[in-house]
Amino acid sequence: MSTDYEVVIGLEVHSELKTESKIFCCSSTEFGGDPNTHVCPVCLGLPGTLPVTNNKVVEFGIKAGLALNCEIAEFSKFDRKNYYYPDLPKNYQISQYDLPIAEHGYLEINVDGNPKRIGITRVHMEEDAGKLLHQGATIISSKYSMVDYNRTGVPLIEIVSEPDLRSAEEAVLYLQKLKAILEYTEVSDCKMEEGSLRCDANVSIRPVGQKEFGTRTELKNMSSFRALQKALEYEIDRQIEVVEEGGRVIQETRTWDENKGITLSMRSKEEAHDYRYFPDPDLVPMVISRDWVNEIKESLPELPDARKARYVQEYGLPEYDAEVITGVKEISDYFDAGLEFTKNAKALSNWVMGELLKFVNSSDHSAADEDFPIPPANLAELVELIDKGEISGKIAKEVFKDMAESGKKPAAIVEAKGLKQISDEGAIIAIVDEVLAKNPQPVEDFRSGNERAIGFLVGQVMKATRGQANPELVNKLLRERMQ
Ligand code: ADP
Ligand code: MG
Repeated sequence: MSTDYEVVIGLEVHSELKTESKIFCCSSTEFGGDPNTHVCPVCLGLPGTLPVTNNKVVEFGIKAGLALNCEIAEFSKFDRKNYYYPDLPKNYQISQYDLPIAEHGYLEINVDGNPKRIGITRVHMEEDAGKLLHQGATIISSKYSMVDYNRTGVPLIEIVSEPDLRSAEEAVLYLQKLKAILEYTEVSDCKMEEGSLRCDANVSIRPVGQKEFGTRTELKNMSSFRALQKALEYEIDRQIEVVEEGGRVIQETRTWDENKGITLSMRSKEEAHDYRYFPDPDLVPMVISRDWVNEIKESLPELPDARKARYVQEYGLPEYDAEVITGVKEISDYFDAGLEFTKNAKALSNWVMGELLKFVNSSDHSAADEDFPIPPANLAELVELIDKGEISGKIAKEVFKDMAESGKKPAAIVEAKGLKQISDEGAIIAIVDEVLAKNPQPVEDFRSGNERAIGFLVGQVMKATRGQANPELVNKLLRERMQ
């Protein structure tokens, strides 16, 4: 490569709001359902119907805006974004154009241990579109397409970032933090796999030192953090190649092909004037009182950064632990609940970041499920059993597996399986003697000054007691016997 390039990325994130009814009518927002069963004349766009704004949507828009450190508009309105495509029956989407609900915010990501602020340009409210199912590969090559309007009119907020991100990793960190904030404020479920959190990525490159931004492409169809990372990495390489070969990047929308691992040109980018935005005359503009904004501000929960600081200050957790645990609301809530039952925050944190996350990620369970097999109190009890010397860390892993399968309390499992740590000298001494008799060489090594030889002998005793002997005691007894 002859030149060094700097990467510039800005994300546009759509998040479905967790309201019961749609943004401008009473139809249900519930995910799934038979096609066209969560619809009414308003969201079907039938002539003669009129939209009415769902107040909860505005409240959630304000809430998200405040959590993202934005200024909340005093006056805001809805506009029509006109485009012709059958996923919207009205031929326009009700969105917000020049007066969005919130602007000029930021969130903080952690880049190599240093905080970095990423600007939030705006948060605006809009209605979601329906889902098309083509008979063929695309709408153009199909004899027919089917449309499901259940999702039409489900409330969305779109969160647009400033072009402040400088790598695919930073983009992923930003999206993770944004997801966490939206989850903490409980305005959205943020399920990427169900499409309630969707992300488009704008990316460009420029020679290091150049002031002006390069021409950007917009990437769509990434449905996981991994896909976002891969799509950006691919696209960055592609743009560099184009430029290195003397070509020019063209402004266009590209789609991520998950199977092939490449981005493909979809269409040239629309300009705002193509959408012929104008204020929606069917909806009254909104005057947003400062009293209401303050009320919502008061109701904001503790957000991820505040929780992280609390974990470090109050429980002495390392920054890393605090970052990992607060990164996902359900895990952080779980950890908080567990701390009611043990004071050993660091040990609980190790179990949560280790075995628990592994279990949650490899099963269909969410730690927030009511029937989650390992309630926080049970994991805390396990930590206590280790602290009291009743079981070793090794046995605890076995107990954990059983807890995950059976849903039983750890003490009950230890009792039923007879896993209690043997801390009785008399019970261990016979095994110690046996191991010493069988292993003259390591004994000899230890006596002639090789400290490390004792590790092998401890291991042998532990093996003979199926991991149940108290390792410290074993160590002590071995030393006594060899003297
Ligand atoms: P549009 O409305 O056409 O999508 P915006 O100006 O609203 O365009 O920008 C959309 C997103 O693209 C924002 O997140 C912004 O930060 C980002 N962006 C703008 N210019 C660039 C650029 N040259 N390179 C990368 N991202 C950019
Ligand atoms: Mg855009």
